[in-house]
Amino acid sequence: MAAIHLDQIGHSYGTAVYALEKTDLHFDDGKTFALLGPSGCGKTTMLNIISGLLTPSDGRVLLGGTDVTRVKTAERNIAQVFQFPVVYQSKTVFENLAFPLHCRGWDKPRITRRVGEIAELLGLCSRLDQSARRLTADEKQLISLGRGLVRDDVAALLMDEPLTVIDPHMKFDLRRRIKQANDQTRHTVVYVTHDQNEAMTFADEILVMNAGRVVQRGTPQELFERPRDLYVANFIGSPGMNFVQAERGDGDLRLAGVPVVAGSRCEVIAPRDEVVLGIRPEHIVFAKGEERGIPASIVSVEDHGSLRVVDVTVGSNRLRMKVGRDVALPSEQVRIRAAAARIRLYVGGLMVS
Ligand code: ATP
Repeated sequence: MAAIHLDQIGHSYGTAVYALEKTDLHFDDGKTFALLGPSGCGKTTMLNIISGLLTPSDGRVLLGGTDVTRVKTAERNIAQVFQFPVVYQSKTVFENLAFPLHCRGWDKPRITRRVGEIAELLGLCSRLDQSARRLTADEKQLISLGRGLVRDDVAALLMDEPLTVIDPHMKFDLRRRIKQANDQTRHTVVYVTHDQNEAMTFADEILVMNAGRVVQRGTPQELFERPRDLYVANFIGSPGMNFVQAERGDGDLRLAGVPVVAGSRCEVIAPRDEVVLGIRPEHIVFAKGEERGIPASIVSVEDHGSLRVVDVTVGSNRLRMKVGRDVALPSEQVRIRAAAARIRLYVGGLMVS
């Protein structure tokens, strides 16, 4: 296993606009990273630079401290799993998993032992003698992964949207098995996805990308609780964060006249700054009994099975709240609240507190 360092990497496909703006990134040894962002933001470009499928216009790629910028993919000891599973249809599952080891000249007992270990890890033991042609797409994808994991010389494992072509009802199980395998093998994994649920489940750290730039990197919890700008706040979460223009009170910030954030957190704001309050739908609740709440009106309720997404208006603002099934919905006119510690403050689109 090896750490990956993208040293002042940038890439243009021959146009003035850089598909990947110049950046310096470290991927620690043994951790799982997700590159998350919308289509066209540069995820695959970055992955292909790491694997060697693409030579960057600027900068260097270091694997375990060695400069591999000009080294071919095959010589980088990188294992890759793509969107479409790559299996040898004419071979059995065992032969597929054993193939990389045959190529490295391993002897038969060693191959049998190693393939057995990996089959056990991926839950493929009962399939070893079957022809790969007969397998379902998710099983084929496990073999693609297994062919990477079986090797003992892998510097990093790169995965490019591996769940995209998998049936929705199989995704959950495959996701669990891939995660289990990653947790046990502790490879350095870089996982590309546009699906935040996948990124959140898999990754120790997520790099959120937009228009060729990493706009924030952090743990799933950090990205959820402290998104550094409005883009990340909106991109992470389902639905994304609510944004409301704050009213200035006497040493506090208010919503519909009700103080929602007070004290030292307001001191970081200059007198003329326009402040946007960022409040997650998960963090808004109905005020109870005598609690002082923000007056709101319910405008719609979307049933999501285990929970409901309730749209409310507060003055001219619209906010969404996530409400558990067991919560009785009050009448149309309601009062809501959110704990001050959960509310983020944004000035000029950037989080200040
Ligand atoms: P997707 O999820 O759709 O694959 P992505 O986030 O992986 O998107 P990239 O495929 O890295 O994004 O593309 C980044 C930008 O580079 C896009 O604007 C894309 O159109 C452009 N691009 C990608 N490959 C090429 C290429 N071979 N030639 C020219 N431009 C390219």
